[in-house]
Amino acid sequence: MKYNGSCHCGAVTFEFEEQEIKSGLRCNCSICKRKGALMSAFTLPPEQITITADEGALATYTFGSDVGKHHFCRQCGIYPFHQTVRKPGHYRVNLGCIDSLDTTKLPGDVFDGASL
Ligand SMILES: [Zn+2]
Repeated sequence: MKYNGSCHCGAVTFEFEEQEIKSGLRCNCSICKRKGALMSAFTLPPEQITITADEGALATYTFGSDVGKHHFCRQCGIYPFHQTVRKPGHYRVNLGCIDSLDTTKLPGDVFDGASL
């Protein structure tokens, strides 16, 4: 299936193809628990996600090892996707940014990122 997502203001958009999304993932690491977002349980290699951003809109926050890249929209502050620590360069997306999904109706597994 084809999925389209965006930040709140629309300055950052993304699209990818994946099997139908029936669940998500939550994580208890120091940044995920603050974001509170339901993420994709799958990761996308860079060639499988198309990202479009207005010039200067996409900002990146890193901490610790700097391997994880936590992207956010500079205009509306929303987190649309990040590049994971465990699979450097690969993306997880914020399922809440996908209009066709209701994240309150999706089950979410919990990943114990705090113990890594
Ligand atoms: Zn935005």
